[in-house]
Amino acid sequence: MRSSRPDPNTQDALFESGEPRPRLTTLLAQAGTRQDTRTGALSTPIHQTATFAHPGLGQSTGFDYSRSANPTRAVLERTMARLDGGAGGFAFASGLAALTTVLGLFEAGDHLVVAEGGYGGTQRLLDQVFARFGLALSYLPVTDTLAYRSALGPRTRAILVEAIANPCLQVPDLPALAALAREAGVLLLVDNTFLTPYWLRPLELGADLVLHSASKFLAGHNDVIAGIVTVRTAELADRLGYLQNALGAVLAPQEAWLVLRGLKTLALRLERQQTNALAVAQWLRRQPAVVQVRYPGLPDDPSHRPLARFAEGFGAVLAFEVDDAARVERLIGRLRLIAYAESLGGVESLITVPALQTHANLTREERDRLGIRDTLLRLSVGIEDAGDLIADLAQALA
Ligand SMILES: *Cc1c(COP(=O)(O)O)cnc(C)c1O
Repeated sequence: MRSSRPDPNTQDALFESGEPRPRLTTLLAQAGTRQDTRTGALSTPIHQTATFAHPGLGQSTGFDYSRSANPTRAVLERTMARLDGGAGGFAFASGLAALTTVLGLFEAGDHLVVAEGGYGGTQRLLDQVFARFGLALSYLPVTDTLAYRSALGPRTRAILVEAIANPCLQVPDLPALAALAREAGVLLLVDNTFLTPYWLRPLELGADLVLHSASKFLAGHNDVIAGIVTVRTAELADRLGYLQNALGAVLAPQEAWLVLRGLKTLALRLERQQTNALAVAQWLRRQPAVVQVRYPGLPDDPSHRPLARFAEGFGAVLAFEVDDAARVERLIGRLRLIAYAESLGGVESLITVPALQTHANLTREERDRLGIRDTLLRLSVGIEDAGDLIADLAQALA
């Protein structure tokens, strides 16, 4: 058993009490550095161990067993808590493992209000698994704040939204939802996978808990599956810590190290990806074969102004619709640089057809209602040369 979250002998003074407090970019660049006072290792060691020898009877180094706590994972968890401005951070084997653990906060008969059109896997986990355990769910249009209010009932325990819904890129009014959640005494849970703490810190807006699929921007290289949760209060940190150990879906040390490694370049990657995404979106708009482009970074996109009110960036994921379904197959077949693959947020650009992939588990009616047509493509823009990406799209659309 672990008593409290261990605090290994680390040099965190700079970030805990430094004057002036380092900015986020600095925090990111130095993610996990100088944590090992014994050797001075600049990079966090990978503690590839299942268990820890105790110094004596009834004694502990602060680490007993790596499911409960592991030093490498602890550095990542502390780093993420600091980045999000939370009282605690927790690392899991995947984004969905993180969500599974968060859902362990609830019990049969509890009611969750969920923004519709979210990540397909999230909806599958809620509808196909947790609904069987008695969790009641209401899905609401992402942007309709009034509807959330009227959906709240006596058994409502939480509101779950994504910072930017996927693939249609709508944005919920997070400050209004935070106020609503506070007033109603329910938790506001925000999946911030699409923006990361570099662009959005929901806890500072009054959210209670933030989820990240670290498989996306945080790790950033399409080579890790990982999930992160950060929480606003010490009370929630205690509950999440208990559930993390009880459910056991923890992140392995090697993967924790890879996420820390990814964080170091997050700021640079995001800036470049956003610049590229805007260039690609602007170019796509001018193509006759493209009937619609959605990218919150476009100044006249419906999500631009709502997002600009509380976020510092617009992401690097865009969606576009082509003129007919046959073109989708041709386009996918002809792309050479941009890979046809699930996932997003990495240094390499990826394209998907949401109706066939990420949102295939929705019924056609649901997809139609959400605007996920067969002609819709989702593009996650990487750090390649924007001209090369545009040239690849140009030859594939021709
Ligand atoms: C990918 C993703 C998830 C799930 O994360 P995994 O790491 O794949 O389990 C959850 N939410 C969003 C928004 C995602 O993009």
